[in-house]
Amino acid sequence: MKTLGLIGGMSWESTAIYYRLLNEIVRERLGELHSAKLLLWSFDFAEIAERQHAGDWDGAGALLVEAARKLEAGGAEGLVICTNTMHKLAGDVQAAVSVPLIHIADATGRAVVEAGVKRPALLATRFTMEQDFYKGRLVEKYDLQPVVPDQAGRDMVHRVIYDELCRGIVKPESHAAYVGEIDRMRREDQVDSVIMGCTEITMLIGQGDFDVPVFDTTRIHAEAAVDFALS
Ligand code: GLU
Repeated sequence: MKTLGLIGGMSWESTAIYYRLLNEIVRERLGELHSAKLLLWSFDFAEIAERQHAGDWDGAGALLVEAARKLEAGGAEGLVICTNTMHKLAGDVQAAVSVPLIHIADATGRAVVEAGVKRPALLATRFTMEQDFYKGRLVEKYDLQPVVPDQAGRDMVHRVIYDELCRGIVKPESHAAYVGEIDRMRREDQVDSVIMGCTEITMLIGQGDFDVPVFDTTRIHAEAAVDFALS
């Protein structure tokens, strides 16, 4: 089994979910007392979120590159950035190390294609919903048609991620707001599935809330990382 280097803490709420999933998936596959071989770099998320909201992506990129190099030096044989949003900097991170980066949008794109759907609603941070680094990859590499919420919906989805989920707060009214937004997108935008394109959203909603396929990027990414570790 290869050792994975996790670039996490963005937020730690979702990194904790990754940690559990990676270990559970290895145990499911190998049985007995097996568990994942992991190194974790866990950021103080305030330092990352401040740079994101200031548009200082170079500054955030420098921090991620430093973490990636330290993980590689520590023995990581593959890297996992435990957030969709920070894949905006995946190219910088990959260029800085010689071990592979397991890209969350590739794992997700493959899962959507395998499910036979085409037009997923993309719920994520404003950065992931409004910029092209993630949606563009789904369009170009996987021939998908991701649809994002309208302005009011994007504001709501983004606010819930940063003000609630990343702080460990899960509110029934936010659950209702997310489900309501997907209902609206199904009627008005003809979406045929849902990408939970932020690694904390699994704390709030899941497949049981919808009768179309739901793609949990945290789980999908963890599965892909274990595929790599055991390959
Ligand atoms: N974990 C989130 C994501 O998957 C949001 C926090 C961040 O900006 O990294 O996008």
